Amino acid sequence: MKTQDYIRLEEDFGAHNYHPLDVVLSRGEGVWVFDVEGNKYLDCLSAYSAVNQGHVHPKILQTLIEQAGKITLTSRAFRNDQLPLLYRQLSEITGYEMSLPMNSGAEAVETALKLARKWAYQVKGVQKYLAEIIVCDGNFHGRTISIVTFSSEDLYKDDFGPFTPGFKSVPYGDAAAMEAAVTPNTAAILVEPIQGEGGVLMPPDGYLKELRQIADRHNVLLIFDEIQTGLGRTGKLFAQEHEGVRGDMTIIGKALSGGFYPVSAVLADKELMGLFTPGEHGSTFGGNPLGAAIASTALKVLVEEKLIENSAELGEYFIEQLAEIPSPHVKEVRGRGLLIGVELKESAGGARRFCEALQERGILCKETHQTVIRFAPPLVINKETLDWALPHIREVLNMA
Ligand SMILES: *Cc1c(COP(=O)(O)O)cnc(C)c1O
Repeated sequence: MKTQDYIRLEEDFGAHNYHPLDVVLSRGEGVWVFDVEGNKYLDCLSAYSAVNQGHVHPKILQTLIEQAGKITLTSRAFRNDQLPLLYRQLSEITGYEMSLPMNSGAEAVETALKLARKWAYQVKGVQKYLAEIIVCDGNFHGRTISIVTFSSEDLYKDDFGPFTPGFKSVPYGDAAAMEAAVTPNTAAILVEPIQGEGGVLMPPDGYLKELRQIADRHNVLLIFDEIQTGLGRTGKLFAQEHEGVRGDMTIIGKALSGGFYPVSAVLADKELMGLFTPGEHGSTFGGNPLGAAIASTALKVLVEEKLIENSAELGEYFIEQLAEIPSPHVKEVRGRGLLIGVELKESAGGARRFCEALQERGILCKETHQTVIRFAPPLVINKETLDWALPHIREVLNMA
């Protein structure tokens, strides 16, 4: 079957909830992916940062095969011999005392929201059910009904109401607006350290630190959604570390499994996480031994192969080189580590045609918010590969 045959099948039988580039991938290896016609591409999306460790990392693959041959799912009705090891490892690597495993990122966000509300009622003393959670305009936290409730993107919400009460949204990067929105009923602030889906939007320097102070001043929890920015993507384990702050909860997902399996988690200290008691929350697949084993190796790879350091070093180089490209279309190059956005001018005619032109030259990128090209290759990328890609990017950014 050829590319067009797969596309026709997909269009005929699948829901049309995505608008993918017309490339049908059948194999991946490290930073490279291959389509059904045998073409090779540099993956500059990394499945929205889920394959930070590179495609089909051999060590993670080995773990998957070995663990799949032993036991894959016990449910949490019984214990398994993989989850406790992941718990300990997460604590050692992140410094949080405890974690709660889920599968998708959205589920982990929901978990954090539930825990924040529970804390508000049980610890802060907010009257039932008045707890409020403050988020930021332009956020992306997932696709459940409660989460799209506080999205500012009409496309994500239109026709999906009625929505969930208890959320407020303020402009991203505006600490004064955040503080003004806090009331005695505020349970938590939920924020991305960099808004990835929002267009690789970086808040002003000091913003995260100010949020930490606001949260402390008003007895409010600070929750960082690091599902995209975490696990090395921005050149630190967590993007919040760039400002030396620590959330009361940090949410991770995506690269936690190196792209092999949906694994997410909420991280928090005992005092907070301990509020959950048996039966109050759960997931059939959450914490399953296959996912736990995979996540454990995915974390090990991140550390052992110094992918966080590589992200910092090559990210700086990539941003520098991109910023030096003379182009009539580029408005701004921004980012941190290997999470990079090239924002195009209004006159450029949208980012999609640039992504299509990059595809023709063997580089896969996805536009975000119509005008931003995101460059987020797997963290295993090397300088040689970037030096191969840069002339192509230069050409494309200078097309008519
Ligand atoms: C991808 C993402 C999510 C949602 O994760 P899913 O696994 O798609 O549910 C939540 N928050 C952020 C910041 C993300 O990038």
